[in-house]
Amino acid sequence: MTAIGMSACTHQPAPQTESGDANFNYVVDQFADLQILRYQVPGFEKLTLQQKQLLYHLSEAALMGRDILADQNCRYNLPIRRTLEAIYTTYPGDKNEEQFKALETYLKRVWFSNGIHHHYGEDKFVPGFTAEFFAACVNQVDPSQLPLREGETVEQLLAELTPVIFDPAVMAKRTVQSGDKDLIQASANNYYEGDLTQMEVDAFYEKMKEGQDTLRPISYGLNSRLVKENGKIYEKVWKVGGLYTQAIERIVAELEKAIPFAENDAQKAIIEKLIAYYRTGDLKTFDAYSVLWVQDTQSEVDFVNGFIETYGDPLGRKASWESTVNFINKEATERTRIISSNAQWFEDHSPIDPRFRKKEVKGVSAKVITVAMLGGDCYPSTPIGINLPNADWIRRDYGSKSVTIENITEAYDKASQGSGLSAEFMWSDKEMQQSKQYGFLTDNLHTDLHECLGHGSGQLLEGVDPDALGAYSSTLEEARADLFGLYYMADPKMVELGLLPVADAYETAYYHYMMNGLMTQLVRIEPGKNIEEAHMRNRQLIAKWAYEQGRNDNVVELKKRDGKTYVVVNDYQKLRALFARLLAEVQRIKSEGDFEAGKNLVENYGVQVDAELHREVLERYKKLNLAPYKGFVNPLMKEVKNEAGEVIDITLDYTEGYAEQMLRYSRDYSFLPSYNE
Ligand code: ZN
Repeated sequence: MTAIGMSACTHQPAPQTESGDANFNYVVDQFADLQILRYQVPGFEKLTLQQKQLLYHLSEAALMGRDILADQNCRYNLPIRRTLEAIYTTYPGDKNEEQFKALETYLKRVWFSNGIHHHYGEDKFVPGFTAEFFAACVNQVDPSQLPLREGETVEQLLAELTPVIFDPAVMAKRTVQSGDKDLIQASANNYYEGDLTQMEVDAFYEKMKEGQDTLRPISYGLNSRLVKENGKIYEKVWKVGGLYTQAIERIVAELEKAIPFAENDAQKAIIEKLIAYYRTGDLKTFDAYSVLWVQDTQSEVDFVNGFIETYGDPLGRKASWESTVNFINKEATERTRIISSNAQWFEDHSPIDPRFRKKEVKGVSAKVITVAMLGGDCYPSTPIGINLPNADWIRRDYGSKSVTIENITEAYDKASQGSGLSAEFMWSDKEMQQSKQYGFLTDNLHTDLHECLGHGSGQLLEGVDPDALGAYSSTLEEARADLFGLYYMADPKMVELGLLPVADAYETAYYHYMMNGLMTQLVRIEPGKNIEEAHMRNRQLIAKWAYEQGRNDNVVELKKRDGKTYVVVNDYQKLRALFARLLAEVQRIKSEGDFEAGKNLVENYGVQVDAELHREVLERYKKLNLAPYKGFVNPLMKEVKNEAGEVIDITLDYTEGYAEQMLRYSRDYSFLPSYNE
């Protein structure tokens, strides 16, 4: 899958029509560089009891594999987490003391990352407490609470864990993706065991691939650890009876309980095939399961559970364990259906040279879902969109499922409203009010237009090489899709189709776009650096080009007030005309394969950062004390039984705190030994 956060096409929220409780408390906790949010599950109450019970058992299965991911990330993660939890829950001293506070923060980060390395940066955490404090704490814990191997003393445990936590040179980086080093030896993750080199790993899998069906290649290595022992190289497969069997057996047991509640035979077959795969570890069975899964577009409840994403392996073979459990958001999916079914109208009215328009266009339909449980590599750090399966041949022959997780994007939006970012950077109350009223809706609509229509619009002239724009192609392609969305956002057709409530709602999308592209996105760039990432280049390209081209007409201004810079849009219709002009030019560049013009646009508008403005933006952002990374706690899902012991309802409880949830999971969903060899 492509977690949208990492894919070629990264986008912010899709809309939320079925609004949750206005008094819902979205922010749960904040520490280090992290903020913990809570998501609501609107529409859950309206599901049938059968659907709720299906969701319940799939959700239990989603939590059963938590320890697998921790062990995959690094072989010391489980003993370290368990040692810290034992200290945290039994500490006899003052819990407000600085050293203890630092240990608490460290533990909260370990929970968040499912290990001792940063979930995004990959570097090992630097503890804010001393090795002496750690040793004193461990010595105070009842040894029966510690993850001791048979016959191991507390002293031996300390001797083993202390350098892993405190020595920066030991297990420094979870996954090393580039450089001159041997990537396997340099990475601290647990996908490879023994003294393996990158060459040995490559040779092992090259051999495995010999004589395989090249039309339908198997994802060799996906569900195993590769081991070198006494000179022999072999796989330890993650399956029932294999590595991680203690957790996988529990997953299978919950999947079996889910079967009687399946919505239809197709869904039943999917769950059964997944169970067969977990039992055998056979990757052909996994492909068969994926084919069934991608073809099921009828079921309202859906889920992912397995070894899916390979970002954590420097060689991109081994998959981390993850799960999401969800159901369709029908109202929001209707919105993408309306857009897709009018695709030809949009194409025919696009402000580009008619030669570059597609004669026959197909809209891409994507569904919008509501997630009810997150597990493994989707928890607490969560994607906002998913596109699966990953096997190219299955995508080619059977297509893929593309989803937007709207209750997650809604939580992001709601939490950001109280962040102070708008108050700091928006020009006046008018912009803030509009943003509050229409910001979420228009952000999502822009994403829909971009995804369902923008990328699929337009055509190349005959004989033009699709790779003609080289390294500038992804920035220009994102710009084209963004401009398509921006242009139509302001079209009367939006109100006519019922996609926007009033004609001027689009203004907030334009303001957001200009403010972000000219200023606020710079918070992600380090001082002195240029913009590298394609989406960020595209956003600055559009905003800066429109700003400069509209200068004579005073369309957009950068105004100063009390020494602070603000974006002011003076004429929204003229801004739309500028977007139309740029769309026509970017489409021409693509259709004709005009490399020089494309390069000039990107280099002149998308790359360079105004150092002075950058410094100002960073300073203002810093004062807001915002956490750049966010994650989520799950609702607590409970079975309600009558006196006869029959399940009569499933309820969701949204009151659990972050540490509370993590400790409950460690108590109720922790099945693996501390060391998995
Ligand atoms: Zn895109």
